[in-house]
Amino acid sequence: MKKPFVTLDEVCSIVKDYPTPFHIYDEKGIRENARKLKQAFSWNKGFKEYFAVKATPNPFILKILKEEGCGTDCSSMTELLMSEAVGIKEHNIMFSSNDTPAGEYTKAKELGAIINLDDYTMIDFLNEECGIPETISCRYNPGGVYEVSNGIMDNPGDAKYGFTKEQLIEGYKKLMTLGAKNFGIHSFLVSNTVTNDYYPKLARTLFELAVELKQKTGANITFINLSGGVGVPYRPDQAENDIFVIGEGVRKAYEEILVPNGLGDVALFTELGRFMLAPYGELVTKAIHEKHIYKEYIGVDACAVNLMRPAMYGAYHHITVLGKENDPCDHKYDVTGSLCENNDKFAIDRMLPEIEIGDYLVIHDTGAHGFAMGYNYNGKLKSAELLKKEDGSIQMIRRAETPADYFATLDFTGLFK
Ligand SMILES: *Cc1c(COP(=O)(O)O)cnc(C)c1O
Repeated sequence: MKKPFVTLDEVCSIVKDYPTPFHIYDEKGIRENARKLKQAFSWNKGFKEYFAVKATPNPFILKILKEEGCGTDCSSMTELLMSEAVGIKEHNIMFSSNDTPAGEYTKAKELGAIINLDDYTMIDFLNEECGIPETISCRYNPGGVYEVSNGIMDNPGDAKYGFTKEQLIEGYKKLMTLGAKNFGIHSFLVSNTVTNDYYPKLARTLFELAVELKQKTGANITFINLSGGVGVPYRPDQAENDIFVIGEGVRKAYEEILVPNGLGDVALFTELGRFMLAPYGELVTKAIHEKHIYKEYIGVDACAVNLMRPAMYGAYHHITVLGKENDPCDHKYDVTGSLCENNDKFAIDRMLPEIEIGDYLVIHDTGAHGFAMGYNYNGKLKSAELLKKEDGSIQMIRRAETPADYFATLDFTGLFK
């Protein structure tokens, strides 16, 4: 059973200051989880988590993670600017972009970030724009199908990311002639894996690659970045990953492959987003309408603008009706937002307790790729983001948008001043 980290009483008190819908984050949960990750990889001297900013781009969240020893994984100018604003710089930033626009490598290099190249052609692009830094990383794509366990797999062969192996070998050689001295390898092959096997398997793939690259190019490989992809159980019947089992699996591969090949100093990096934040964010929304036609509908005051994953991927997000946690789930509803789009549904044919107008619903696991994916379709405005601090108090960490924000880019007309 999934239990919200906010209670009905808390929500009733929060809405006096901050009306629904809002995203709320649980500082305690974020910190405890970050410490677990750090501990699971503490056997590796150089271990560092670079939080994937795109998952939850809020400086207050980045600051909490910074205090827990994390850096940031950025892939755009604004993500670099946000890291800079929080005081995260130099090798505490990983710049893992692709199809990189002009000017972004320059900004990354000015900040001293580690640049992770997505393609062979980006070597010349980077060199012409701002020169090759001493420390550089390249992203690997093994092609084909990558299978982890019990049917969990993905299709790197269809993915736009990374170098082929041959390109990596040539790329490392070329980068060395252009002045690079320290090398990293990066790869992200399967998303949202709810299995303890993904990182250990990926680690084996990348550790073997590191040995081969070292032999074929003589490059000084100093870090391997396992990137993102460790998932969370969105469904209540899924078992969560055990980060200690994952860390131990990676350690085993490290000792079997890297250590005997003289690579026992290689630092391991992660770029987790979902695993770091998803369970520690919730979207709180209010039932505002009911509708009885061919199906039973509950209309809430949030919509896909606040959480796009169900509309975009058909993703499951668990829903708790606050105050009715122990009531029987004997009503079948579609829970909808107000967009003029029939895919604006947070749940379809979901068994829930009987919902009355005014009930508060918690949509679970929205802490990563939730608010962040928001958009303004139908002129809908993005919600506030709140932080439930460790002492239980509430801090607004982003205000809700107003019509003035929506019209701000029309400021040349005079009509919306
Ligand atoms: C999205 C992304 C991540 C984070 O992925 P999660 O699934 O949130 O762990 C990490 N690295 C890169 C390069 C990404 O694009």
